[in-house]
Amino acid sequence: MAPRVIVIGAGPAGVRAAEALVEAGLRPTVIDEGRRDGGQIYRRQPEGFSRSYDTLYGTEAERAASLHQSFDSLRSRLDYLSETLVWNISANAVHTVSGTRYGTLPFDALIICSGATDRLMPVKGWHQAGTYSLGGAQVALKSQGCAIGSRIVMMGSGPLLYLVSAQYVKAGAQIAAVLDTSTFMQRIAALPRLLAIPAALKKGIALTRVLSKARVPVFRGVQPLEIKGSPQTGVSAVEAALPGGKRIEFACDAVALGYHLRPETQLADLAGCRFVFDDEAQQWLAQVDNDGRSSVKGVYLAGDGARVRGADAAERSGRLAALAVMYDHGMQTGGRKDMEGLRAELARFSRFAAGLREAFPWPAKFAATLPDETIVCRCEAITAGELRRVVCEAGAREANRAKAFSRVGMGRCQGRYCAHAGAEIIAAAACVPLSSVGRLRGQAPVKPLPVALTEEVTQ
Ligand SMILES: Cc1cc2nc3c(=O)[nH]c(=O)nc-3n(C[C@H](O)[C@H](O)[C@H](O)COP(=O)(O)OP(=O)(O)OC[C@H]3O[C@@H](n4cnc5c(N)ncnc54)[C@H](O)[C@@H]3O)c2cc1C
Repeated sequence: MAPRVIVIGAGPAGVRAAEALVEAGLRPTVIDEGRRDGGQIYRRQPEGFSRSYDTLYGTEAERAASLHQSFDSLRSRLDYLSETLVWNISANAVHTVSGTRYGTLPFDALIICSGATDRLMPVKGWHQAGTYSLGGAQVALKSQGCAIGSRIVMMGSGPLLYLVSAQYVKAGAQIAAVLDTSTFMQRIAALPRLLAIPAALKKGIALTRVLSKARVPVFRGVQPLEIKGSPQTGVSAVEAALPGGKRIEFACDAVALGYHLRPETQLADLAGCRFVFDDEAQQWLAQVDNDGRSSVKGVYLAGDGARVRGADAAERSGRLAALAVMYDHGMQTGGRKDMEGLRAELARFSRFAAGLREAFPWPAKFAATLPDETIVCRCEAITAGELRRVVCEAGAREANRAKAFSRVGMGRCQGRYCAHAGAEIIAAAACVPLSSVGRLRGQAPVKPLPVALTEEVTQ
């Protein structure tokens, strides 16, 4: 019997996983909550929009076209459930919802390619209208062709900071300033590892040229202090401290912020995968072997949802995980050599990703100095002061305990946007290492569901 394989996610990892399975004669089911395939980076524009590949994807136009064409050519040989959310995973079955229709789909092998989301550090005032994550700002541009404001401050650190800023410049938006918390020297120190993928390094340098050509002011080594504004008018300015301590204010009507990405791990958690604390990334990550096998038999992880290494690596890890599935089911794939090559390539991408983390470090130190009134959990409006209170007065030094006492991470985002910063605040207040704070346990549903589910979908 051919194994029943489900792939969650139709981004670069999911599409290449599905392709390898189809090549071997299997008929996988691909599930994605998005309306169209492509994932984050190669997000397709809605029907009726007519921007060219060059306009939409710039230097990545060829890769985007290749991925879209591959998926289009596979469509008749797989089952594709778009606009379908996987909201839970239980013993060898995924639970889905699409509109008001629900479904339970059994699997022999599951490849989770759930991607990543922005990694965020709060700043006082970031709850005001007009503040977006960098990813959100990019989605607005890529999907809907609109900017988040008419005068924008881009703030944080990581490749997305420069990429989104350059994309906004090219689209004709006015960038008031790019405020980067990392320093030039950190970038120089990271060079040996960044040279693991010279082409990617070159693309990054080209982005900074776009900004300097457009005369966008770029400040490095800054500390964000406050996003100013009012509930009536939203964001009106950003205040930051420059290296040396001088404070500077930038008038704006929108802010995009973020500090690189975090793997989207809730589904792996619900599948029961073991997690380990990664000292270098300072994150809890699902444990995987080189091919993407998790600690749970039959569950595989690929793409940024396993390790944030970018889209090219996601394509390779998706294919590798699919080959591992076939290998584990005793199928003759002829892919042993293919697997060796993919592992070697992925090792280079891992080295490059480590270089990016070194060049654009997560600013853990800001958590300790956030003013008490700063909102950390935007869903439940929990402040840094409240979180520190439950640590110091109630002794809640562990993430889930602090959640129970304060409601931090209990809202509709389920901690996706506040868990990292919340854990840093707990660690700083309790004077313990981040690893000992633990991580929020994944809870189903991963996203809100309609109350009335009417009709069952079966496969
Ligand atoms: C907001 C954002 C913008 C980015 N922009 C760029 C960029 O411009 N250039 C660049 O080089 N890199 C960018 N990156 C990084 C790049 O997107 C990733 O490296 C690459 O897309 C990873 O591919 P993937 O297949 O692992 O995940 P993704 O491309 O993120 O695909 C994951 C897919 O899984 C689906 N999914 C997730 N959870 C569920 C669920 N529970 N149920 C159903 N479906 C689910 C999602 O809808 C998505 O389509 C960006 C990342 C983010 C988060």
